[in-house]
Amino acid sequence: MNVQRCVIGNWKLNPATKSAAHELAQGLSGIACDAVRVGCTPSFTHLSTVAGVLAGTPIWVGAQDICAYTQSTGAYTGDVSAEQLSDLGVGFVIIGHSERRNYYREDHSLLVEKMKHAFAADLSVVFCIGETKEQYQTNQTLSVLDDQLSVLQTFRVPRGKLIIAYEPIWAIGTGLTPTTQEVIATHAHIKSVLASYHFEGVSVLYGGSVNEQNAAEFAQAEGVDGALVGGASLKLDTFAQIIAAFESAS
Ligand code: PEP
Repeated sequence: MNVQRCVIGNWKLNPATKSAAHELAQGLSGIACDAVRVGCTPSFTHLSTVAGVLAGTPIWVGAQDICAYTQSTGAYTGDVSAEQLSDLGVGFVIIGHSERRNYYREDHSLLVEKMKHAFAADLSVVFCIGETKEQYQTNQTLSVLDDQLSVLQTFRVPRGKLIIAYEPIWAIGTGLTPTTQEVIATHAHIKSVLASYHFEGVSVLYGGSVNEQNAAEFAQAEGVDGALVGGASLKLDTFAQIIAAFESAS
């Protein structure tokens, strides 16, 4: 079954200013994308600026986090809810990124609550999974991914709203990547797990040090339905080359 190919920029805590975010969004609005769905995830402070610039374009605007405790409003200092994001025109949210699992100690049950609220507000979810370097070196990758994916069986996942991003933690921001053959095998495994859950049409993206040099190889790899791109999504020409690589492989 063909799934939607996506290239999504995870801007993390970048850029420093609203005007730089505005400029990046304006640049993105001119990027040609047809077969590939292109997205970006600005900081909360830049979301409304970026959503404004990209309104009416095919570029999908997402958030990097969401409140786990309510879908709407309440006494949750510092949080932003699914309903608030939806109201801004946000279409999706990244959940389970290793930086949030690690720095903010986000565990399975918290991630499940976040996903439930996102889906209830009709947002799509990019659910990130991946192993540490030590787990990779000791051949635990697939069992770690099985465990991370297993939470998806504990609630109803609406059809067409879930994207998986396979991001080996040791590949994020390091310039290191697994081999293409390893990525192909891991994606095949992820897809077989999703099939065993009777999930259909779920795109599986690769993330971790994707750049303009390796994008074409990942784009042509069996079972790689796109990329989640961190650092390289902040440079417009580089991100455009990554998108072009996935466009031409589609
Ligand atoms: C990420 O943080 O999701 C990511 C893939 O980062 P980078 O592309 O910089 O490795």
